[in-house]
Amino acid sequence: MSPRVLAATGMLEGVRQVLSPHCDARPAGTAIDLIVIHGISLPPGEFGGPWIEQLFTGNLPHEVHPYFAQIRGLRVSSHLLVRRDGELLQFVPFQLRAWHAGVSEYAGRTACNDFSIGIELEGDDGTPYEPAQYRAAAAAVRALLEAYPALSAQRIAGHSEIAPGRKTDPGPAFDWNRFRQQLG
Ligand SMILES: [Zn+2]
Repeated sequence: MSPRVLAATGMLEGVRQVLSPHCDARPAGTAIDLIVIHGISLPPGEFGGPWIEQLFTGNLPHEVHPYFAQIRGLRVSSHLLVRRDGELLQFVPFQLRAWHAGVSEYAGRTACNDFSIGIELEGDDGTPYEPAQYRAAAAAVRALLEAYPALSAQRIAGHSEIAPGRKTDPGPAFDWNRFRQQLG
């Protein structure tokens, strides 16, 4: 599969869209020049289920699990989510700012949400990510590199790198060499 970014909408062609209200405008004149790779599972350590989509759209039912009650009121999103089977979902058009990085710094610049695209892989720090996830994430990143000239294969960081001490995802389970090979 080789999706491409539709310039008019800032959406990846052919991916399922689940639009999130958790986004806003990037600061005027900000180029998109960083991709942030994340891992997420809800509840932590469990895969499948509608919970990530519901979290990102503000519809997580807080009574379903004690962890969901703990994160009540959390307003977060990412541009893309890669499910365990490699399915891609887009929550926020790329030209808008998704709320994935939080307090963060990359190469001396803070507030990475301003200038980055966030890609969440469903997973946790210790469970190997699926081959289909590497394939889908790499295909999405190739499309982004094509669409946004300030991006490059060198400007891809894990959440743990831009928020050290606070975040650990995508964790040691994410095989960066494999991902970079897949990128080509
Ligand atoms: Zn993260």
